[in-house]
Amino acid sequence: MQAKKIVFLPGDGIGPEVTAQAEKIVQTLIQEGHDIETQTALIGGAAIDSCGTPLPQETLSLCKQADAILFGAVGGDKWDHLELAKRPEAGLLGLRKSLGLFANLRPAILYEQLADSSSLKLELVKNLDILIVRELTGGLYFGEPRGIQKDVNGEREGYNTYRYNETEIRRVARVAFELSMQRNKKLCSVDKANVLEVTRLWREIVDEVASEYPQVELSHMYVDNAAMQLVSRPKQFDVILTGNMFGDILSDIAAMLTGSIGMLPSASLNEHKQGLYEPVHGSAPDIAGQDKANPIATILSLSMALRTSLDLEQPANRLEAAVREVINQGHRTADIANEGLAIGTQKMGDYINAQLYAK
Ligand code: NAD
Repeated sequence: MQAKKIVFLPGDGIGPEVTAQAEKIVQTLIQEGHDIETQTALIGGAAIDSCGTPLPQETLSLCKQADAILFGAVGGDKWDHLELAKRPEAGLLGLRKSLGLFANLRPAILYEQLADSSSLKLELVKNLDILIVRELTGGLYFGEPRGIQKDVNGEREGYNTYRYNETEIRRVARVAFELSMQRNKKLCSVDKANVLEVTRLWREIVDEVASEYPQVELSHMYVDNAAMQLVSRPKQFDVILTGNMFGDILSDIAAMLTGSIGMLPSASLNEHKQGLYEPVHGSAPDIAGQDKANPIATILSLSMALRTSLDLEQPANRLEAAVREVINQGHRTADIANEGLAIGTQKMGDYINAQLYAK
């Protein structure tokens, strides 16, 4: 069997600090005998400074050969004056496009000890564990034609196109059904089929795919209702499947139910299960270089990578258990510490690593 390959892309701001903690954990797994190879490459502002482009060819080639990419964060004031195509964020978008990462997975899990950070009452979010599967490379954000037309009856008019073809819908639906099979076999597809033809097609195709997964209980919900239900009765959901724009909004709502942005992992996958794994947060320039960032979002992104792209289910479970245990023991970085004593990024990484080692 070939070694599994992980490429680390630390990026900017707190990116290098948080990915360093995930690297420690991968080293522990390698010492245990898991056949994993790692490499590190430049992206974002760090790549602009060193090679003049946010996504160097060398980085792209390494990523194409990897099973999983662990991305930190990109961006910062220093590069804000650059035009959009040359800014750090273009590195991430270029990577998503080149690797065809069409399925974005955003778990929202509430750790009971951190329930104070949730925007909702404890009884509504206790044991919350939702997974949002968002289509990432199509829909309204990418549909053509698009633009701002100069003179339409004497004024300017902006327009975008909301399109999905059957293939785009079917492949992301399959990802959501597969993930439902690994969880509670309950899937809710969110659309606006009462108004938008494109989502009527979405509903039809999701129903078709459902016949391949008879064990999964499928429901459909309009997006306005889904937004209400997420904040009134979030625990009714297990896996939510939706398009690009609705997913963008709903996943941020779900994120807030769990509290700190420093705890939220994500994954973007293509049909070969190759994935880009990253914390939901950005480069946090306000705390960069101060050993204050919470590395848990990145560490949980690594556990998603182990499970989904490296087929290492057991180490992934152990890593998630280690995170839970360290939180149970009361260790907190500043963002989740409330008034209590906070530990730094490295210490949090060390505690989780030691806990993993002990298991
Ligand atoms: P941000 O997520 O970087 O920070 C928002 C707030 O959350 C800040 O107060 C920050 O200190 C805090 N925070 C973020 N991550 C944290 C962590 N792990 N631990 C503790 N606190 C954390 O968002 P922003 O301030 O809007 O953006 C800062 C920069 O990041 C910008 O240049 C933006 O373009 C970029 N950005 C990058 C990505 C990405 O790389 N995927 C995503 C969002 C924003």
